[in-house]
Amino acid sequence: MYDSIVIGSGFAGAVMARQLAEEKGQKVLVLDAREHIGGNCYDRLDEHGILIHQYGPHIFHTNIERVYEYLSRFTEWYEYRHEVVGNIYGKELPIPFNLNTLEEVYGDRAPHLEKLLIDNFGQGARVPILELMNHEDKELQEIAQYVYENVFLKYTMKQWGKSPKEIDPAVSGRVPVLLSRDNRYFQDRFQGLPLHGYTPIFEKLLDHKGIELRLGCDAKSVLTIDPEAAEPVLLQGGPFHGNIIFTGALDELFDCRFGRLPYRSLRFDFEHLNRKFYQSHGVVNYTVTEDFTRITEFKYLTGQLDAPDTTIVREYPMPYSGGEGEIPYYAINNSENDGLFEKYRKLVEKIPHFTLLGRLAEYKYYNIDAIVDRALTVAEQM
Ligand code: UDP
Repeated sequence: MYDSIVIGSGFAGAVMARQLAEEKGQKVLVLDAREHIGGNCYDRLDEHGILIHQYGPHIFHTNIERVYEYLSRFTEWYEYRHEVVGNIYGKELPIPFNLNTLEEVYGDRAPHLEKLLIDNFGQGARVPILELMNHEDKELQEIAQYVYENVFLKYTMKQWGKSPKEIDPAVSGRVPVLLSRDNRYFQDRFQGLPLHGYTPIFEKLLDHKGIELRLGCDAKSVLTIDPEAAEPVLLQGGPFHGNIIFTGALDELFDCRFGRLPYRSLRFDFEHLNRKFYQSHGVVNYTVTEDFTRITEFKYLTGQLDAPDTTIVREYPMPYSGGEGEIPYYAINNSENDGLFEKYRKLVEKIPHFTLLGRLAEYKYYNIDAIVDRALTVAEQM
């Protein structure tokens, strides 16, 4: 009855389902355990009419033209230019640390330090702070030390519950020193937010005659996956030989038989305020103080600038224990955890036509554009 079953309706699953239905003429069943589509990109109006991102801020940015064009089939864009400031002991400074930040921190010394940075790395460079820390020049080391202590160290310890040394360099690579006066958080060619929110993108992606959607449906209630069995995939008790595209947490599919894959979770505390604006920018990172990492004020992101009141969210990082209602957000990549993931991956490797896709299923950090790009490629190859 179905050519493919897609588990999860976030970007990985929704784009796959759409491409298989539209390009390959397949009949696709999409299952999602939640009562809504869109995975962690799901957004909705809160009871005050403010568009909120239920699972934290998602800001689209990309240099991949085909991704921008593909998503533009399903949405128009609000031309939001994301800027972040760090609240550093009460003072707000541009993040990532850039030449404007340098000027504010170093005053009269800034022109000399700016020249030193540019002579070493070139105008416009994004220098990972770990690279700067290891540089032989003492003044460059001093800048690196400032950024490390005031932007990176405490935020990272809050976010990951670990010291930076225990964290994948790919994470710290996301915090550069930027040698320009561009205060935007991302420098990509295309950036913005979907004009009417993310959820309508998913509605449109999944609105195809070849796609059947079941919400509130845990995959394990309809599928039995047993890599050792003669029929490794059963759909409602009968053999299924079509494609399975799995975008969920792989350990949980196998009842954590080798142990839990560690993920980082978050608690979101939303607050509605009867005032026009709460803070100066869409996102303020609390890089040295507070238990939360950042406060997002949604109206900047979504363009509801004329709304008379506002909604904000504070993000409190926490471990993921698999408890009821907890959500895994970030894979914690290191050699031990990646090794454990590999054991789970080897299990499904033996199952024909079984594909892992996305942040959870591939146990890696994906931005929206990267997962859309990957889904397009995987669908093409199927
Ligand atoms: N980070 C930091 N200070 C900041 C912003 C980010 O130390 O002010 C580090 C932190 O380890 C974080 C990582 O960089 O987890 C990635 O940050 P990004 O804002 O890209 O994360 P996301 O929005 O995906 O959570």
